[in-house]
Amino acid sequence: MIEDLQAHEIRDVIRINYKYTMGGQSKFFKELMNKKKLLGTKCSKCGKVWMPPRINCSDCYVPTEWIEIKHTGIIEVSTIVWFTTSAFIKNIPYAVGYIRLEGAHTAILQGIFSENLVPSKIKKGKRVRAVFQKVREGKMTDFFFVPEDEYESWINKPEYEGGR
Ligand SMILES: [Zn+2]
Repeated sequence: MIEDLQAHEIRDVIRINYKYTMGGQSKFFKELMNKKKLLGTKCSKCGKVWMPPRINCSDCYVPTEWIEIKHTGIIEVSTIVWFTTSAFIKNIPYAVGYIRLEGAHTAILQGIFSENLVPSKIKKGKRVRAVFQKVREGKMTDFFFVPEDEYESWINKPEYEGGR
């Protein structure tokens, strides 16, 4: 006769420390953190400007060169976020969108904050400008975009500052 065995279980917690490398894109995050620069890359063959940067041109497969990109651009597409991870719950509702910065041929996915978040503020074609965290860690969350007409208000908040 087989004995009915109920396994004994103990609850515990595993903490994992790890490093995440940005590899060839490290320069983007270092310049963002240290100098509030937004770096893209330019293809040495076709001239396409990639933002976010790509180390090799995805059209020509040749190496690209780092170039500084302006902090202003337009919204290509956006949406308002109501459901998110624990890291961003304090910010809801907020917007995310693909922003095409001036001089870039591609768009970067980033948060868009507004003091009056209504769809008309974040629609396609609206101008936005980058605002930076005063305390930066070399992460995508070191900056976000705001409607251009709200820029002065955002950079006067204690935790944020403007770029150049
Ligand atoms: Zn190319």
